[in-house]
Amino acid sequence: MSVMCEHTDEKKKSMNFIEEIVANDLSEGLNNGRLQTRFPPEPNGYLHIGHAKAICMDFGVAQKYGGVCNLRFDDTNPQKEDTEYVDAILEDITWLGFKWGNVYYASDYFQQLWDFAVRLIKEGKAYVDEQSSEQIAQQKGTPTQAGTESPYRNRPTEESLALFEKMNRGEVEEGAMVLRAKIDMASPNMHFRDPVIYRVIKRSHHRTGDTWKAYPMYDFAHGQSDYFEGVTHSLCTLEFVPHRPLYDYFIDLLKEGKDLQDHRPRQYEFNRLNLTYTVMSKRKLLALVQEGLVNGWDDPRMPTLCGLRRRGYSPESVKGFVDMIGYTKFDALNDYSMLEAAAREDLNKRALRVSGVLNPVKLTVTNYPEDKEEPMEAINNPENEADGVHTVTFSRELWIEREDFMEEAPKKFFRMTPGKEVRLKNAYIVKCTGCKKNDNGEVEEVFCEYDPDSRSGMPGADRKVKGTLHWVSRRHAVKAEVRLYDRLFSVENPSADERDFRELLNPDSLKVLTECYVEPYAAQQPPLTYLQFQRIGYFTPDKESTPGHPIYNRTVNLKDTWGKQLKG
Ligand code: ATP
Ligand code: MG
Repeated sequence: MSVMCEHTDEKKKSMNFIEEIVANDLSEGLNNGRLQTRFPPEPNGYLHIGHAKAICMDFGVAQKYGGVCNLRFDDTNPQKEDTEYVDAILEDITWLGFKWGNVYYASDYFQQLWDFAVRLIKEGKAYVDEQSSEQIAQQKGTPTQAGTESPYRNRPTEESLALFEKMNRGEVEEGAMVLRAKIDMASPNMHFRDPVIYRVIKRSHHRTGDTWKAYPMYDFAHGQSDYFEGVTHSLCTLEFVPHRPLYDYFIDLLKEGKDLQDHRPRQYEFNRLNLTYTVMSKRKLLALVQEGLVNGWDDPRMPTLCGLRRRGYSPESVKGFVDMIGYTKFDALNDYSMLEAAAREDLNKRALRVSGVLNPVKLTVTNYPEDKEEPMEAINNPENEADGVHTVTFSRELWIEREDFMEEAPKKFFRMTPGKEVRLKNAYIVKCTGCKKNDNGEVEEVFCEYDPDSRSGMPGADRKVKGTLHWVSRRHAVKAEVRLYDRLFSVENPSADERDFRELLNPDSLKVLTECYVEPYAAQQPPLTYLQFQRIGYFTPDKESTPGHPIYNRTVNLKDTWGKQLKG
């Protein structure tokens, strides 16, 4: 069987090593040339940007080579799982733009897994161990030193069967007994030293309720689930490399006598995504949420997909970032700035350009009639003509950014300063005539005069001035709240730090500005609209935003100012 490859540019792009493996397996006719992958989240938290990397791989490779990717909830541990997470995971994958074939649950295989475990006990390949987890751990040995066999290792089959039943009836306390595979306590692979395959958990399961009290461990559920479903390529991250022989061991046992052909899943591993200035561990992310250190899973500072979405990231910018970093066999720490660069690149193509003044000071055009107002045309997106135009209203009284005025400016200050000319975006060229200060010497109001012949777009208005400033009309602007987000953590690699991660949080990760002004058109935009506040950055209306009280989240600045902040 050979793979059909369309000769589009997309496909000609160099393949990553997993794609090469898949293409090769398909051309060799493994699994009859079938391709089936799965994305296997445990529904114990929200998806984060690291999961996006796995999703892009699992769904991406299936899409590219004509296979199918299913979604499988790896729900074998009722302690932390919940349907809230299931729903969020479905939403986030859909948001990224991927479509699964089927939705499966590992819990659908509890009976099959139980039967398989019983079979192993009967064949002398598993036994119930009554030691504590500490005792079991002590007997594991080290990679260079064989482990010690459990005193229960050679107990009669009937005894193990009876105890396994008891474990599942709830007659055994959690931790009092486990079922272990009987493999090899001297194996150089620690995972073969009689791994625990079932334990007791006395908690209701989000799908199977109280039917089961004995639950399979990851290593006894994942590969088998892949096998039951007909997965051909089980793609996962590098930490599972040492698990692969055990994965194959159980599948070999399952296949025994059934399947003479080479129909089986194979596991391949790629590097995890790790990002600077954040954490990816679901345990830590959950703690941040539960302890109120952030405002929920979708706090725009979180590396979760719902957080990034609320922050104003587009699915394309997330996928663009994953593309940028690629897939390798080596773990690395990726720079958060790359994620931001991917956002800028994508948002530049799609963001609606509007005006917002974050740190306002009054500007009065003294020679402009008091009750006059003029509609001016503003281009929605210079990157895409089809996005059209909208109207902004010019008047005598405006807001501009405080930083755009300087009473005594250096020569290269091409903004508002007495005696100099600037253009007000989409409107007129004005000449600054001075300012008024309060008793503390703070500038309260800036004055200028406009040149009526310089209106943008008018014949003869092409006179060049160096600076162009954004502005909003005081009479028309809507007062807005703007939330400026920064790195969640103040150290580059919080996961590698000895201190508790809570101590490493950046105290300035959220700054709220409540006295901002935006043009009315910006105030009308619904949450999640991609906006560019001209000359400042990308923003999106928050889910709490209303037209009367707009609230914007800063996605990212127009330029990478973060490096500068560090130095300055
Ligand atoms: P936990 O933090 O609870 O150990 P997890 O991050 O591994 O869990 P899962 O729900 O088990 O979360 O992950 C589902 C899939 O996503 C797995 O195949 C896993 O390998 C992949 N994945 C998780 N984190 C990352 C990451 N940082 N980079 C790439 N893939 C990841
Ligand atoms: Mg996991």
